[in-house]
Amino acid sequence: MPVNILFAARPEQWKIYENPLKSALSEVGVTANLALDMAPDAVDYMVYAPDSAVQDFTPYTRLKAVLNLWAGVENIVGNQTLQVPLARMVDHGLTQGMVEWVTGHVLRHHLGMDAHITKQDGVWRKTIPPLAEDRPVTVLGLGVLGQACSKALSCLGFPVTGWGRRQRDVPGITCLSGDDGLRAALQSAEILVLLLPLTTETENLLNAERLALLPKGAMIVNPGRGPLIDDDALLGALDAGHIAHATLDVFRVEPLPPAHPYWAHPRVTVTPHIASETRPITAARVIIENVRRGEAGEPFLHLVDRSKGY
Ligand code: NAP
Repeated sequence: MPVNILFAARPEQWKIYENPLKSALSEVGVTANLALDMAPDAVDYMVYAPDSAVQDFTPYTRLKAVLNLWAGVENIVGNQTLQVPLARMVDHGLTQGMVEWVTGHVLRHHLGMDAHITKQDGVWRKTIPPLAEDRPVTVLGLGVLGQACSKALSCLGFPVTGWGRRQRDVPGITCLSGDDGLRAALQSAEILVLLLPLTTETENLLNAERLALLPKGAMIVNPGRGPLIDDDALLGALDAGHIAHATLDVFRVEPLPPAHPYWAHPRVTVTPHIASETRPITAARVIIENVRRGEAGEPFLHLVDRSKGY
């Protein structure tokens, strides 16, 4: 019998995902009805984006799993009507995109590129940056994206410290955990990259006290989630000159309102949540592999731990 897969994301996403999902289904030999609309009590799997119209899962009585199109799950993980396994997106394209965005912005700050790009004023100013090996970088979050970015930065020569909830062992990376680990990770960070998920524990993690631990002149790159940072504390640290620059891709309110002080701040770069996108062809394969696993009675990949919130 064919499995019924509901595509519960914004309709414009359907145009992007329909063909990749159908190709991925035929690649693994799963016969399925894949549709934008279907009777709730017929749905076996839901391909889901948290901005979907579906917020109450109660009518989906036959549902076996929800397969999220996004890596971040903060808008669905606490939904009490969802009682089946929830998988988040782990996708080669998403990871590679994040590695490219993070290394690009870290190199921009490390090399001081802005001085030559934005100040073509006829003055011959020679500023020689240190070598990467003399520029300690810290990555908060050592999950799929944090590890991939840490390894890429380490390959470029940066001494990389990574921090996460559990103690990890990643070759070439100084791995830390716990409160003392966070303190040490911040104290050494000339460039700080945030790749934590948003949970009740990580909200406002980068507050005034922790910003003060960073070395004077540190630069921050945040492609994680906006509420990881206390915005007022960051603006204060930027205005005081303690933080030299913040490149922010994610915000408490998105799109970032035009009047928000970040837009006009000379030491802030705003990018519109473009650090990395789920790539339909590779992501469709990940989603359909989970459907195949569900039908074969095998464990799902990339399950969210609802108790931890990510
Ligand atoms: P992941 O694999 O789940 O990794 C999360 C990492 O954060 C893990 O290392 C985890 O520690 C750590 N962590 C979670 N809570 C913690 C806490 N309370 N204290 C210390 N460490 C904690 O997630 P991912 O795939 O790397 O994605 C990370 C985030 O990137 C996503 O949640 C999303 O918000 C963001 N993202 C942004 C974009 C964009 O375009 N801007 C795109 C994709 C993703 P453990 O290692 O101990 O589990």
